[in-house]
Amino acid sequence: MAMNAFKLAHLGAAALLSAAASPPPDVRHLSGDVSVLIGTSCNVLILPSDGGALIVDDQRRSDLPETLAAVSQVSKAPVRYVIDTHWHLDHSGGNGSFAASGASIIAQRNVLVRRSTEQFMAAYKAHIPADPPAARPTRLFDKSLDLTVGSERVELRHVANAHTDGDTLVRFRKANVVAMGDVFFNHIFPFIDRSSGGSIQGMIKGVEAALRMGDERTIYVPAHGPVATRAELVAYRDMLADVAGRVKADMRAKRTLEQVIASHPAAAYREGMEGEEDRFVEAVYDSFAHEDLHHRL
Ligand SMILES: [Zn+2]
Repeated sequence: MAMNAFKLAHLGAAALLSAAASPPPDVRHLSGDVSVLIGTSCNVLILPSDGGALIVDDQRRSDLPETLAAVSQVSKAPVRYVIDTHWHLDHSGGNGSFAASGASIIAQRNVLVRRSTEQFMAAYKAHIPADPPAARPTRLFDKSLDLTVGSERVELRHVANAHTDGDTLVRFRKANVVAMGDVFFNHIFPFIDRSSGGSIQGMIKGVEAALRMGDERTIYVPAHGPVATRAELVAYRDMLADVAGRVKADMRAKRTLEQVIASHPAAAYREGMEGEEDRFVEAVYDSFAHEDLHHRL
């Protein structure tokens, strides 16, 4: 008894010390059973259930304590399912740890392909080594996968060649929430990873697919930036289409990449925006440079 009391006091002090070292995770209830961690590296959706929690994205490996603390705020059970919205390490860096504690790592098939070999991200001149086999996705799908977790229906839908070639949108049917991954950067000029098969055409189609998955009351959760309404996602789609149209018109007029960037086709959207405007414009240009210009969006 005395020993247990000592242990409890000791553990309590340790918990207080670790709580003092890092601020509590910013977890917000969205709708139904679904919450979101506004995370250090990306937003993480959390769906608790008696049989284990489901999370969408698991941040960088170094964010693991934050992700675990967030899950424990809303779930008594540990993580049973991790969905990777795509392969980037600010979304999938926790995979190895969650897999080691028994979770299924679920992803579109191209995520496994990219995590199984070294990747080169030309936009950042970065070489990213392959994941060890134990950290790679374990449950794969091509176009769609539906799961039942607790009383929630979770619908995974692949959108092709958007931010990468392995993006997944995740709809929580009962809560009416859609997790967008990096197909939606809210108040941030989007990064389109051309080295990983991303394209402006696919980004626009991906957003349109997300709009078809929801209704006026759907909560759309970008992986970066604040949680959004349908109207905000529509405005983002319109911004993508407008900038794409301007770049395409410049290219028809035989303007070079340097000239297109210098004409600032996204300037109208700068207010309240973060991110890298020129990098975004370059990715739009590059997307069109590698397709038939007569192809319609
Ligand atoms: Zn990404």
